[in-house]
Amino acid sequence: SPETESKPGLLGRILGRGGEETETRRVLDDDMLESLEELLIQSDMGVDTALRVSANIAEGRMGKRLSVSEIKALLAAEVARIMEPVAKPLPLYPTKPQVVLVVGVNGSGKTTTIGKLASQFRAAGKKVVIAAGDTFRAAAVEQLQVWGDRAGVPVLTAPEGSDPASLAFDALSKAQEDGADLLMIDTAGRLQNRQDLMEELAKIVRVIRKKDPEAPHNTLLVLDATTGQNAVTQVDVFRKISDVSGLVMTKLDGTARGGVLVSLADKFGLPIHAIGVGEQIDDLAPFDPEEFAAALTG
Ligand code: GDP
Repeated sequence: SPETESKPGLLGRILGRGGEETETRRVLDDDMLESLEELLIQSDMGVDTALRVSANIAEGRMGKRLSVSEIKALLAAEVARIMEPVAKPLPLYPTKPQVVLVVGVNGSGKTTTIGKLASQFRAAGKKVVIAAGDTFRAAAVEQLQVWGDRAGVPVLTAPEGSDPASLAFDALSKAQEDGADLLMIDTAGRLQNRQDLMEELAKIVRVIRKKDPEAPHNTLLVLDATTGQNAVTQVDVFRKISDVSGLVMTKLDGTARGGVLVSLADKFGLPIHAIGVGEQIDDLAPFDPEEFAAALTG
């Protein structure tokens, strides 16, 4: 696409001095390998993954003459290979209602993502209910209501400061009564108080299981891709306090270098259910490993 062409290619800088023809061949030596490693680390891939990816590209090719475009193709193939197994839309079960708990730090894009998902599922003919489980932030509840209106989906709320578990329980009762296909439960994202958050999430799970022992069927962790390697830390933390079953990566439309997705796939292997590509309701796309690899390598 013209957009990828106008960007300074990620690998265009491998040869260091820039401006060099992408078809010019150069011997793949230690220097070049090191430049590749550095470039991948700069793309937010994290050291471990960057080294592993570089090593795979170099394997059997040291001392050979390669052009930048050949290295790009090898890198794109390697990235696509890592990303393919995690590219999975949110699985839909015949269970009614399927309960999806949505977790993530404030600002990661939880509210927006819930709105976008609700809209997509509704367009697919599903009956959706949203529970505004971040009862501590009045603004969060209001914002979720705005998104619910946009998506044409009811949002269940409770007074500020009330127990999110009790709201979740009521929401599940209502979703069951209404014969809803899907219940999405928003949660608080105050990671500063990890113990409280853990107890709050555990209580929500415990309470909704009184209604449905299988719930929640999915726990979606929403991550802001622009936070780079911080996203890796957030997965670590959230996996300790909840049963994360899949990821949504937001803000991939901006300047995010996106390498962190490779790092996440390599480290955790959690499914990436969707990516956020803008602030509008339709700006949620399935994760496409080939397209992603091509965009990343530029
Ligand atoms: P929450 O605090 O986790 O609920 O986060 P919000 O859903 O309120 O999102 C925080 C900010 O990120 C808002 O300004 C959103 O418009 C923005 N945002 C969310 N997802 C995306 C995305 O995919 N792309 C862009 N560019 N902005 C996003």
